[in-house]
Amino acid sequence: MASINAAQKLDFLWSLELANDISLCGDRRFFFADTAFHAAPEEVRANIAAAFEEMSNAVKIHNVHSVRVRATPDGMVVNYHCRLSPRLTVSEVHARVDELDRKMREAFPDIVRIVGYAEPMRE
Ligand SMILES: [Zn+2]
Repeated sequence: MASINAAQKLDFLWSLELANDISLCGDRRFFFADTAFHAAPEEVRANIAAAFEEMSNAVKIHNVHSVRVRATPDGMVVNYHCRLSPRLTVSEVHARVDELDRKMREAFPDIVRIVGYAEPMRE
C-alpha cells in the first residue's frame, strides 16, 4: 500500500471495528471499547454519554449505544449507533442524525469527527 495518512489509517481501522460492532451489537445501552486508539478519559466519556441521552431525545433518536470516544492529537473522534423509527424516510433519518451530530459538536467543540450509524428501531 502506498503511503496513507493518519486519517485514512483511522478510517480503515474503524471500518474493521464497525464490522465487529454490527455483529456484536447487543442490549447494553452504552459500550465503551478500549482498543486500537486511546479512549478519552472516563469523565469525558461520561459527559458525552449524558449529552447523548439528553440531545437524542430532543430529535427523537432512540437507544444511542456502542458509543466510542477516542482522543486523537487533533481532538475527539466520536462514533455511535442509534435507532430510529423504520417508518421514517432515508432523508428524514439523515436529517435527524445530522441534527444530533450538530448538537454534539456544539456542546463539545473539541469533537473533530462524529459519525452516527442509524439502525431501525424494533417496533
Ligand atoms: Zn448497533
